[in-house]
Amino acid sequence: MYADLALINGNIITMDSKKLRAQAIAIKNQRIIKVGTNNQISQLINDSTKIIQLEGRTVIPGLIDTHIHVAAFGRHLDWLDLTDCKSIKDMQTILKNKISQTIPNKWILGRGWNEKNFQKNQFPNRYDLDTIAPNNPVVLYNQSGNLCLVNTEALCLMNINSQKVKLLKENTIKRDLITGDPTGILEGKALDLIWDSIPEPDQKDLLELTHCACLKILKAGITSIHWMVLSYLEFSIIKKLKEKGIPLRIYAIIPFEIWKKEIKQTPSHGLKNNTFKIGGIEIAIDGYLANKTAALFKPYNDGSYSTGNLFQSSQSLYASVSDIIQSGFQPVLHAMGDKAVELALEAIEKLMKKTEHQNTRIRLEQAALINKNLIDRTKNKKIIISVQPCVINSEFKTWNAIDNLGSNRARWLFPLRTLINKKILLIGGSDCPMEPLNPFQGIQKIVDRKFFPEESITLTEAIAMYTINAAYSTNEEKYKGSIEEGKIADLTILSIDPTVIPSNNIKNVEVETTIVGGEIIYNKRV
Ligand SMILES: [Zn+2]
Repeated sequence: MYADLALINGNIITMDSKKLRAQAIAIKNQRIIKVGTNNQISQLINDSTKIIQLEGRTVIPGLIDTHIHVAAFGRHLDWLDLTDCKSIKDMQTILKNKISQTIPNKWILGRGWNEKNFQKNQFPNRYDLDTIAPNNPVVLYNQSGNLCLVNTEALCLMNINSQKVKLLKENTIKRDLITGDPTGILEGKALDLIWDSIPEPDQKDLLELTHCACLKILKAGITSIHWMVLSYLEFSIIKKLKEKGIPLRIYAIIPFEIWKKEIKQTPSHGLKNNTFKIGGIEIAIDGYLANKTAALFKPYNDGSYSTGNLFQSSQSLYASVSDIIQSGFQPVLHAMGDKAVELALEAIEKLMKKTEHQNTRIRLEQAALINKNLIDRTKNKKIIISVQPCVINSEFKTWNAIDNLGSNRARWLFPLRTLINKKILLIGGSDCPMEPLNPFQGIQKIVDRKFFPEESITLTEAIAMYTINAAYSTNEEKYKGSIEEGKIADLTILSIDPTVIPSNNIKNVEVETTIVGGEIIYNKRV
């Protein structure tokens, strides 16, 4: 038996604990048939074998992003990137360019400006946009995403006028100190008004945008994703993407409400091949730290006495989780605050008392605040903790977790080292488009951790979160997640070996080639 494809002269990081490194790989019929030395693989090469000369480059298993919002990512691809703007004029130039390619009335969105980069730290206003874009509504978020600048056209479509603004109690729509007119800067609750006004893209537009998103994902060396579905429309989109031949392996995770209403009764929603499956059903137990809706035992440190929001009672949670398991799906429990994590554990402990549930791999999504006591309750169960490494950095840096939670509590925010020491399985995802797609950016954030660095983990542990652990989380560890004989040939070829560079440089590792099921899907060199 000869190989269809052989990769030789490489530095193969297998993520297989029995054989950590190898030189070469042979592939046939989409599967890896041999991992070994150049000599061993050369015996499997004949005239019809395609050969990739790695010239010392590094190969890792195809990366798995365990938390990505693909439809939202697609929509964001169309956004203007304003991160490099050094002046309001720079913003105007980028906008002008976009206007020249956009039909009137179409919404234009963007993000990334920072007034601290502008002269005298001056905020831009709506008139700065009106001169360039009189006929298109424009919405431009700042770098941290907590406020945005809109033009007059957008204000009109949002039904915001001077009269209305003067009646508002909160100061979420900024007003000119002299005239009292809105300046175009919105924040807080006023940001919701924007999303109430922007029309949803139609199916055709969304298909095109998500198709572009999938190509970008493959280009980032990612061969499998856990697609966090936000709307029912996304199903028909995933099916159409598959018809178009997108090779990305998709494990869809659906909100409980959509599953119950639209999908539970029609199990034929998955496709027959192994590249698309509806797997996880997500229950939101609480909200998010960023808007202080994550449920805590003790109030946030802002003097408000607020402990966030719990969306489930013990009874409702237990009933829903049982329903999910009995229907053959995986429970994915979003629990960010410590109180929500406890409620999740309570339900899981009750379930695990039944022998038939003991092997269910339940996933805690974004479990952020998890103290020693909760960690002890988590270990020894088949609980998987899903982490989005770039979110960790944002919670500390942008949200100021130490101020908002107090230092003693913030110490237990994403304690990855402690979790791994207790043998709790972690998986990694991007949370793109809220955070960057690049998996190496995420990996760097947890290997070279800046806040509570004692909770940093090793590079191999971090890669495992995006490969073998991620495969385990969907019961596919025998099929993918490491470079082993018999497994599917999903591989990512890198420009440099991430294990030999300084940890503050990991984010610059480039993906050169992505291989899915033995097919070269992306190749930077051609
Ligand atoms: Zn998310």
